[in-house]
Amino acid sequence: MAKLSTLEQLAEENGTPIFVVDHDIIRQNYQDFKTLLPRVQIFYAVKANSDKEIVKTLYDMGSSFDVASMNEFLLVHENIESLPDEERQKFIWEKIIYANPIKDIKTLKELDKYKPLVTFDNIEEIKKVKNHAPNAGLVLRIKVPNTGAMVELSSKFGIDPGLAVDLIEEAHRQGLVVEGLSFHVGSQTTNFDNYIQAISVASGIIKEAKLKGFEKIKILDIGGGFPAPYDVNVEPFKDLARKLNSELDRLFDDSIEIIAEPGRFLVATACTAVSSVIGKADRDGKRCYYINDGVYHTFSGIIFDHCKYHLQAFKTGPKQICSVFGPTCDALDTISLAEELPELEIEEYVYSENIGAYSRASSTWFNGFPPAKIVHINK
Ligand SMILES: *Cc1c(COP(=O)(O)O)cnc(C)c1O
Repeated sequence: MAKLSTLEQLAEENGTPIFVVDHDIIRQNYQDFKTLLPRVQIFYAVKANSDKEIVKTLYDMGSSFDVASMNEFLLVHENIESLPDEERQKFIWEKIIYANPIKDIKTLKELDKYKPLVTFDNIEEIKKVKNHAPNAGLVLRIKVPNTGAMVELSSKFGIDPGLAVDLIEEAHRQGLVVEGLSFHVGSQTTNFDNYIQAISVASGIIKEAKLKGFEKIKILDIGGGFPAPYDVNVEPFKDLARKLNSELDRLFDDSIEIIAEPGRFLVATACTAVSSVIGKADRDGKRCYYINDGVYHTFSGIIFDHCKYHLQAFKTGPKQICSVFGPTCDALDTISLAEELPELEIEEYVYSENIGAYSRASSTWFNGFPPAKIVHINK
């Protein structure tokens, strides 16, 4: 996290609420991932935080990207403009996977001219791709256990592994080519066995598909889910990496390219929210603070991401249990009913760290309050 004095100074200069993005930390997280999983190409999952400057920093580090909408696709694709013509098609395949298994027809029509790599997991999608984006390459998303993840991602997408080879066969029958397999073990996964099981399931499917003559499978996409170190209970990433490396090397030879789609891991620890106390009251014997950022804004992850964020004061002093609310009129706009803070005055700043993923990305304009201003440091 950025220094407290820096955060205070940025709040003075910009007003609050602000959302401070430290690009040094993003680069460090990228480097850590790369160093600990040397065989894995990173496709940053843009949905975790779609800020353009973040995309740029990761692009400059050598990252590729996982996108899930036309707008996310175009956000990454902008970087292509500086490339010579002959590099452009290579760029799409090396740099972008469109990892939303369900795409509407309009999107497929727009995507087709880019000859994209897209995921799918059902027969209707094969038909749509054949009719509207016949130039796309396919990656099959399989369903894998999501036990113990903070955010479950397996009930919505993924073919049952027992039916995977049939679906690969169907895609080929329709004249499309399945280039790889993908899965997602659930976001902020604390159960590393999910990865081990998923990798083993994927390996079985690839073997069976090859036996049936589908030789073109060359990508294994191990998805996202890599846990951010929100607190001391999160097992270190290096322990997960060690297990992953040995399983990947055991089950896949060099003909399989391994990619991953980390979102949270790269950005969660890089951002800090700074807001101001705008009101205080004692209700039912409990101190209540009202701040100018909340659940409809940077703290949206409380709802959508099932994440808890702690608020901290810039000053020290005896603490009391209090409630902290956002600025809107909705009671849902409750950041915490049990935060420990020292006595705060109106206009004092508070901050919340590790809030870079699934936070400002799903901020709204509810009640006329705009999203926090983004401030970049160490760009
Ligand atoms: C959300 C998502 C990710 C990123 O997940 P994290 O848990 O943030 O790493 C990666 N891939 C897909 C397909 C996703 O939907």
